[in-house]
Amino acid sequence: MNTKIIIAIDGHSSTGKSTVAKQLAKALGYTYVDTGAMYRSVAWYAMQKGMVVNDELVVDELKKSLSDITIRFKYNKASGIAEAYVNGENVESQIRTLEVSQWVSKIAAISEVRSKLVEQQQQMGVNKALVMDGRDIGTVVFPNAELKLFMTAPAEIRAKRRYNELKSKEEKVTFDEVLKNVIERDRIDTTREDSPLIKADDAIVIDNSLLSREEQFEQILSLANKAIS
Ligand code: C5P
Repeated sequence: MNTKIIIAIDGHSSTGKSTVAKQLAKALGYTYVDTGAMYRSVAWYAMQKGMVVNDELVVDELKKSLSDITIRFKYNKASGIAEAYVNGENVESQIRTLEVSQWVSKIAAISEVRSKLVEQQQQMGVNKALVMDGRDIGTVVFPNAELKLFMTAPAEIRAKRRYNELKSKEEKVTFDEVLKNVIERDRIDTTREDSPLIKADDAIVIDNSLLSREEQFEQILSLANKAIS
């Protein structure tokens, strides 16, 4: 019988981590967890509750409210997606907007937010058979994960993909806004004090600028099968 493992996928913003992680989990019969959706959910909550005032985040108020935020994923058979819920409300589409993207990294730099979400993520891995993507999965959440991948590509390529995705959802955005956001999120994520985005020493780097989705998936599936057997 195959052993069950934890696969940690980290990397820069909009590198297609979630797409490949989802595909991989499906192929292996594993659970997939999008930790970015958890940080986005907290950001969405803060914005909803008026904690962004005059373009400033009221950090103390958010810290005090953390115990009021319950994040869950519920599998939607029709879409094939484990959708995010905050306090029972489906927020899957609301958390993907550029507006949320513009606040999420500032919120994810708050230690109290991280420790709450990291604890919840570690719980999700107790039975292994897990593919989790984020920024600190191989370094902080599961430093002993059996397979660690670190995905990257030049910012322009990543922004183009993200721009096309947002446009397909009819969001009114310009390429420059998306590029600026991708670069700014990378800057905040790599320079924050708590759990900055860095490659784990034992992570395998995948630069997907020149890979098709299929090529990338085949490469990652073969790494996963090697790690499992
Ligand atoms: O993965 P996604 O781009 O949706 O993540 C949104 C933001 O959440 C990231 O830019 C980052 O600031 C934060 N994040 C994080 N740690 C994780 C996952 C996401 O700080 N494990």
